[in-house]
Amino acid sequence: MARSTDRRRRRADSTARSLLTYGLVILVPVVLLGAGLVWNLQATAKSRGLAQARSAALLLAQTAVAPQLDGRGLSAGMSSQERGAMARVAADAVADGRVLRLQLRDERGAVAFSYDRSSGRRTAKPPASPGGDVTARSDDDVAAVLTHLDAGGTGTAGPAAVAVSVPLTAGSPAQRIGTLDVYLPYAPYAADVAAIRRALYRDLALWLLAVLVCLGVAAVVLERRRRTEASTENALVGLDALTGLPNRALFMRHVEEAVTWVIGIERTAIVAVMDLDNFKNLNDTLGHASGDELLGIVARRLTAGIKRPDVVSRLGGDEFGLVLRGPQDPHAALTRLAAMVSAEAEVGGRPLSVAPSVGYVQVSDGQVSAQTLMQQAEVAMYAAKSDHTVIAEYAAEMERFGAADMELITELPHALSSGQLALHYQPQIAARSGAIIAVEALVRWNHPVHGLLPPGRFLPMAEQTDLIERLTAWVLERALKDMSRLSAHGTPIRVCVNVSARSVVRTDFVQQVTDALRRADLPASQLVIEVTETALLTNPERARSVLEQLAQAGVHVSIDDFGQGQTSLGYLANLPIAELKIDRAFVTGMATDQVRKAIARTVIDLGHNLSMRVVAEGVETAADLDAVRDLGCDLAQGYHIAHPMALGALAEHLSAHRSQELSGGQAAAATVPPATGRRAPERW
Ligand code: C2E
Ligand code: CA
Ligand code: CA
Repeated sequence: MARSTDRRRRRADSTARSLLTYGLVILVPVVLLGAGLVWNLQATAKSRGLAQARSAALLLAQTAVAPQLDGRGLSAGMSSQERGAMARVAADAVADGRVLRLQLRDERGAVAFSYDRSSGRRTAKPPASPGGDVTARSDDDVAAVLTHLDAGGTGTAGPAAVAVSVPLTAGSPAQRIGTLDVYLPYAPYAADVAAIRRALYRDLALWLLAVLVCLGVAAVVLERRRRTEASTENALVGLDALTGLPNRALFMRHVEEAVTWVIGIERTAIVAVMDLDNFKNLNDTLGHASGDELLGIVARRLTAGIKRPDVVSRLGGDEFGLVLRGPQDPHAALTRLAAMVSAEAEVGGRPLSVAPSVGYVQVSDGQVSAQTLMQQAEVAMYAAKSDHTVIAEYAAEMERFGAADMELITELPHALSSGQLALHYQPQIAARSGAIIAVEALVRWNHPVHGLLPPGRFLPMAEQTDLIERLTAWVLERALKDMSRLSAHGTPIRVCVNVSARSVVRTDFVQQVTDALRRADLPASQLVIEVTETALLTNPERARSVLEQLAQAGVHVSIDDFGQGQTSLGYLANLPIAELKIDRAFVTGMATDQVRKAIARTVIDLGHNLSMRVVAEGVETAADLDAVRDLGCDLAQGYHIAHPMALGALAEHLSAHRSQELSGGQAAAATVPPATGRRAPERW
């Protein structure tokens, strides 16, 4: 709900932004155009006003003024008759508002007569001539200029006026007798100009508004279309929502394109798959927001590191795909990209770096399908991960995991969340008494197509990825809950849970274990964590700390498949280990194989000397069990005792076993003979 409101708001914002952009783009030329038009209009109006004023002044000079003068130059002085006539002409013109001031100047420019509206009479002290502009013109010119009437010599500007100077000629032949200066009111012309300007402004505003409305509509329509196209494109080709990179479906199309593009050694290309090591750990520790931020950084770095038409894609989770065309040295090109990705970044304010593993394969012209190339690149990536080589090129020998397994692993996340995984429990008995002391939880996959799959089919692959950590968490939770149910029916037994190297070194592993115990309401003493020597050796320091914390929490740790690895005994002796589990390679058939028996004896003695419990697994025959017991081994596990079984079967098995014990232990004694040989202290 909040997300859709958010999306709507973002959409409105983006439309408003485009509108503003388009609006500004159109507004600037319209304003410039308007300013130009107004300037042009004012200039035209002004010159038209001046022309009209010139004509009016000329008419006045020729029809009203000149006929009143006797033809002598004005410098010779005006007769009183002339003055009287001029005063009448001026008073008439001023009275009907056509003229503001009328004055006569002699040939030398001195004012001979002046009449204006402000005084309503002849001015006592004649004002100066209209200004340089007017008088500077040649004698025959009728000059007009815009000015202000001097308000009766007060120094303040009077009303706006057009000053026109008309040369006065008289006599025959006509000669210049002086100049007539007429000040006409500018207000009527100004009113005209203002009216035209107002009309122009209105038209411009209307026009601009119309353009903006059209633009607005166009922007909304275009924006809608762009969004529809973008979402259609996303839906059609599929872009990853988090990084905006092409997703797996689109990437496959690029791989197909590369397959058709490649020709022999002329045009080469590689397909690469990059996976971030320990990303899940980071995601869980720092939170999903930081995980997303990191993926965004990786996506941007990869995008910056390639050039078109090379392609980078997010295949899902922390996996990225690359199609690089014609790199001379693919290894070097990928090393450069891997270095870019693993450079330190700031995520959620913290410096952080991730190490990628990259697998790649050369695209060979049309021989291998895009699908197969992708699988091969993934196989190479898993090889790079398990061999810690960062980058690996696909080689047929790498097919440790068949194509079928590759497909299986992609189904595992779904299997985990949809209840396809199950646990089977294999009992461990006290070698001497035959009592069931513990069970080992062993994972199975009830595959809808392939049936019940043993862990060997999917665990090795899962262990190369973060999936194993989800699996461990699930097994731990399930096993403890199951034991809690058994305890409720009066059979409290220990459960041994296998934990891979990847899970055991997690910073929150101990917390995960104690949380699961609390949720199942089981004491820590009912849980045994089985780890292999190799798991301890991948990160000995971290492993030591985890083992110490587990011991402090009261959880027993067992070293699985002991005898196979090369753990230094010094290292082992200093770890808080409760149990050694002799590798079944030394147990199965030990009754008849002296070498195996010797090794088993050594491990049992070693464990006891270090105060550890020793378990023999792989007890396949009664003779094996006898041999195990004779050597003083504490616990035994194997097909001879019981096969792994589902929880329901285990519950029945336990109660059958108990009733046998209660009825005198005859049946139990048949499979578990009484202890003979060396007596070992009870260690369970
Ligand atoms: P493991 O921990 O050594 O487990 C014992 C394996 O030996 C089991 O195989 C069990 O079925 C088998 N086994 C039991 N008795 C005998 C016997 O008398 N003779 C022989 N030859 N084999 C016997 P399974 O269940 O196929 O498991 C194989 C491996 O898968 C396990 O070896 C363990 O390393 C791993 N695994 C199983 N479950 C889990 C799990 O939940 N988490 C992890 N991380 N690993 C698991
Ligand atoms: Ca085990
Ligand atoms: Ca084992």
